[in-house]
Amino acid sequence: MPLRIYPLRILGMGLGGMVVGVVLWERQASMAAWLAMVLPSFVWPHVAYLITRRSADPYRAETRNLLIDSAMAASFVPLMHFNLLPSVLLVTLTLVDKISTGIRGLWARSIPAMLGGALAGVALAGLHWAPDTSMRVIMACLPVMALHTISVSVVSYQLIRKTAHQNQMLDELRRVDALTGLFGRGHWQEQAEAALRRHHTSDEPACMLMLDIDHFKEINDTYGHTVGDEVIRALAHVVRGNVRAGDCAGRYGGDEFAIILPGMQAKDALAIAHRIREQTEGVRLRSLPGVRITSSIGVAPADHRHHNLRAWIDAADAALYAAKHGGRNRVAGSIEPQLVPAV
Ligand code: GH3
Ligand code: MG
Repeated sequence: MPLRIYPLRILGMGLGGMVVGVVLWERQASMAAWLAMVLPSFVWPHVAYLITRRSADPYRAETRNLLIDSAMAASFVPLMHFNLLPSVLLVTLTLVDKISTGIRGLWARSIPAMLGGALAGVALAGLHWAPDTSMRVIMACLPVMALHTISVSVVSYQLIRKTAHQNQMLDELRRVDALTGLFGRGHWQEQAEAALRRHHTSDEPACMLMLDIDHFKEINDTYGHTVGDEVIRALAHVVRGNVRAGDCAGRYGGDEFAIILPGMQAKDALAIAHRIREQTEGVRLRSLPGVRITSSIGVAPADHRHHNLRAWIDAADAALYAAKHGGRNRVAGSIEPQLVPAV
């Protein structure tokens, strides 16, 4: 933070100091008034930098420095005898700077600091009222206005880009399962709910496949979790190879995968399930080619009696259970109300 603020403070205080300098020159100010402008504008930024660098808590130190910035900027107002344009400009930009730090409540805390700074300015320069702004002072204000506006815009542009990028990454993280690259459970559920809604509203068919690796615990126990992970990834590869672009294949749990096949009739879904089951048998791990893997799959077409996603998942789960119960390494379809096992 100190490194980032250092050049901005040099620029901001320096340009502000030059505006004040023009006013002081116009009113032929005293040596004390000149000092009260030069020290905050051209010396303070370096002092602030050193304070923050040497502090054990740079964040706190910098927050304090920002409040001192506010007090110093406000002290310029009586110093300029309330010359209207630069006074309003300095006070406004000071507040804008505090708001744009994003530090909660900093702008509000800077108000008492500014009042204190203004009082110090009155104590030093007295209370004189000369609000007229000459063309010369207006000209001196212009670079401050332009540069400040542009730099605040650039900073907020960068922030917006960064936030958009991070949101995209967060969304990706939420959607995708890290181990397999398939969709995560949350996103899968959203897609499944959408498919069920379409089935209810427009009768569009849809099927759900629930797949579970057989005796996966044994694989973990015998070969270790790393090999277990390799098996899960290999299964995900098989699943991915058997779904279309519009399908939604997700990792539902540890060794469980769930697939939504929108627009598909039960018999086509069963054929896909059989293909996945067959290809699972053919999986060979690079590290342990001797390991054999099988999977059991339950198939459930969306039905009008599925009032919610839970009911549809229960139907697919029941079919999966039937496949497991029937001896594993098989596919079972749920054609409700009874389960019809298929080899
Ligand atoms: P079944 O044939 O009845 O499915 O038996 P199973 O041994 O496969 O039993 P189950 O499906 O209940 O086992 C799931 C196991 O998966 C339990 C858990 O230790 C393991 N597991 C869950 N997540 C992961 C993971 O990310 N990596 C690995 N390696 N194992 C996991
Ligand atoms: Mg299992």
